[in-house]
Amino acid sequence: MSGPNTTVPLLDVNRDNKPHRDEFVEAISAVIDSGRFLFGPDVTELENEIAGYSQVENAIGCASGSDALLLALMALDIKAGDEVIVPSFTFFASVSCITRLGATPVFVDICPDTFNMDPQCLSDAIGPNTKAIIPVHLFGQCAQIDRICQIAGQHDLPVIEDAAQAIGAAYHSRPAGSWGLVGCFSFYPTKNLGAMGDAGMLTTGDAAMADRLRLLAGHGMRPRYYHQAIGINSRIDTFQAAVLRVKLRYLGEAIDSRTAIAKRYMSLLEQAGLVGPDQVVLPTVDANAFHVWNQFGIRVGEGRRDALRAHLAERGVGSEIYYPVPMHLQQCFEYLDVDGSELPETERASREILNLPIFPTLTEREQQQVVDTISGFYKAGAKVAA
Ligand SMILES: *Cc1c(COP(=O)(O)O)cnc(C)c1O
Repeated sequence: MSGPNTTVPLLDVNRDNKPHRDEFVEAISAVIDSGRFLFGPDVTELENEIAGYSQVENAIGCASGSDALLLALMALDIKAGDEVIVPSFTFFASVSCITRLGATPVFVDICPDTFNMDPQCLSDAIGPNTKAIIPVHLFGQCAQIDRICQIAGQHDLPVIEDAAQAIGAAYHSRPAGSWGLVGCFSFYPTKNLGAMGDAGMLTTGDAAMADRLRLLAGHGMRPRYYHQAIGINSRIDTFQAAVLRVKLRYLGEAIDSRTAIAKRYMSLLEQAGLVGPDQVVLPTVDANAFHVWNQFGIRVGEGRRDALRAHLAERGVGSEIYYPVPMHLQQCFEYLDVDGSELPETERASREILNLPIFPTLTEREQQQVVDTISGFYKAGAKVAA
């Protein structure tokens, strides 16, 4: 199939930002004029707005989603000898926060339909040294956070939600980041609420925890030059907060666009006859979840994922593999000596997952091109087989 001679990017941040350029410039100019590059009024306002949006009492800005996770574990005093339960099918930062403190990640398998932590595997993994649980709301869909929190509660264990990909998502109508003791958000530019650089946020309903997180994010210093704890320097700068406040006003619209795009992919792929276990397996939406579609991840079975990705790339269609190597197979975690046979769904997902272009300004024509190109791949394959 000879598609049109245009390319479809995996993500086009410039196109998404363009309609709001004047508002960004105005917000950034105001920060320049204020001279308050850290702890400016936009930071406090953003914290209040994210707290409101996530329906929690407290939100604390920090430098990144990675730092949010690290600070949460620091506040829990996680240390050598402690175990923290986490999926292996995630981004590195969900796990490095644990090892950085000398603690041990205990990897649990995922549900094959949602790619999220399997609550049964979580139950089985809890032991005497377990000190915390980090479910990840992957691709913009909450893990079964009600069951996870219930299991955690039975063992009196804190839940730290890695909601880096899931701002605006909900489970049983309750927002991501409001279920656990702490919620961790990232504003990395590819996330649904993306800054123009690095930024992150912590949410918590627990006032003492909020106080501790703020202390640790500011060198453990209180009052000035008196250090109560060995904290880190992790701040959200005012420029990023100003940009994020503009974007937050449009987050609902952006999520609506992503939802429409996801639905359209499903119907286009279905109509093209591409859906099935030997071709494309569509992402599953948990009936209790409000999915915000940070990623549209299909499964490509029969060992053909990499060939399909190459076929798309040759025809100018962007795609990505989130994630090609699960954490238990990473070189840096070899020392953990994890038995991968207990993580079959994680390893299968890393072989089959393919993430298609999704961003709010992706057009219907572009989506049609993505689907036509996938269709071309399977038609060519059928010819070879015949
Ligand atoms: C992006 C991401 C992080 C880290 O966020 P940064 O802001 O890039 O540090 C953590 N966990 C998950 C699941 C992510 O996708």
